Amino acid sequence: MALIVQKYGGSSVADAAGIKRVAARVLETRNAGNDVVVVVSAMGDTTDELLDLAAEITDKAPAREMDMLLSAGERMSMALLAMAIEAAGGKAVSFTGSQAGMITDALHGSARIVEVSPARVRRAVELGSVAIVAGFQGMSKDSKNITTMGRGGSDTTAVALAAALDADVCEIYTDVDGVFTADPRVVHHARMLDTLSSEEMLELAAHGSKILHLRCVEYARRFGIPIHVRSSFSHNEGTWIVPDASDKIELPEGEPLEQPIVAGVAHDLSEGKVTVIGVPDIPGKAAHIFEVIAQADTNVDMIVQNVSTAGSGKTDITFTVPKAQADRVVAALREAQSEVGFEDIEQDNKIGKVSLVGAAMRSNAGVSATFFRALHEAGINVDLISTSEIRISIVTHEDKLAKAVEAIHTAFGLDTDQEATVYGGTGR
Ligand code: ASP
Ligand code: MG
Repeated sequence: MALIVQKYGGSSVADAAGIKRVAARVLETRNAGNDVVVVVSAMGDTTDELLDLAAEITDKAPAREMDMLLSAGERMSMALLAMAIEAAGGKAVSFTGSQAGMITDALHGSARIVEVSPARVRRAVELGSVAIVAGFQGMSKDSKNITTMGRGGSDTTAVALAAALDADVCEIYTDVDGVFTADPRVVHHARMLDTLSSEEMLELAAHGSKILHLRCVEYARRFGIPIHVRSSFSHNEGTWIVPDASDKIELPEGEPLEQPIVAGVAHDLSEGKVTVIGVPDIPGKAAHIFEVIAQADTNVDMIVQNVSTAGSGKTDITFTVPKAQADRVVAALREAQSEVGFEDIEQDNKIGKVSLVGAAMRSNAGVSATFFRALHEAGINVDLISTSEIRISIVTHEDKLAKAVEAIHTAFGLDTDQEATVYGGTGR
């Protein structure tokens, strides 16, 4: 017998008919011999309507009261779904986030999960009921106030419960069949993906794909929970997001569950920087430049475009390439100079890149703050910046690189009191 956590989004429980349809679906899963824990979002546009209502009253709503208000949306759908399951002949009990043991920090509106102790949920399931949990809400450990976890947070509730209950899978039910190669509402010929790695899903979520809450993907990755994104309107197999066993982490007892985890600091002296100066700021120029670069068979890493020092209507395009390839790229660009119409090229091989790598880099603003403060305090000038969900990288002068690595390493508490043994090599 499997334990399945199912999360139904607002569009799946938008009205009474939807709630009955979901009840039937839950019972179907239950009758197939599984234990089922359900997480629900607020019905349809309820959360937006509650926000509008508050805005009609005041534009300075106390954060605590805002969370009291918004958490009511999920409370409605959980109770109605429990009634629908009972009416259809099943057994169900609903729980608010705090009853379900979702303990968060005190940050109203974007609370993070600190601890999940779903004893009552587990008990209800053991007694043969379907347990229904209100998504997106919890209770602050310190203030004991009700908190919400940010828009779209029910996905994260579902995965967190799946992790705490050691569920076999977390199914996220939505109004499309799965994760597509682009938003199917925008790209009508988008293709549905059968599987996706956690890391790919993380990048998609971090860059605007709304199908899953970013923190839910992060959470699933660190606790090794497989996610199945599928439609509540069809029985089609959806998209599986499969965590990589090596991404799973063991958190020391009592550590907040969503804290950022820094894996390490990497540095790289192998790249050089090329700036194409005074590129006409019209469509097609960047394409032309990168075609020339591609034909020179090089691997471009960071790319930054800036307002040009050469005057208005022009841009500068800066990129990094392996030093060994830099001369070749510059030569190829020089050859295309009159055709592309840029003014000059600068090449700088005396640069170094330092990267901080880990989990939850993007969704914890404090990580960037610590990172850049450390560089500032060490007197390091930042030349280029690039980020991903699991990385922040900057380029600086090569003479400053070692100092930058040290400063960041210390700032993130990675230093030990023992000296690391280096058996040989120069590290080049
Ligand atoms: N009801 C909340 C929202 O609309 C949470 C969720 O749906 O995940 O953002
Ligand atoms: Mg959502």
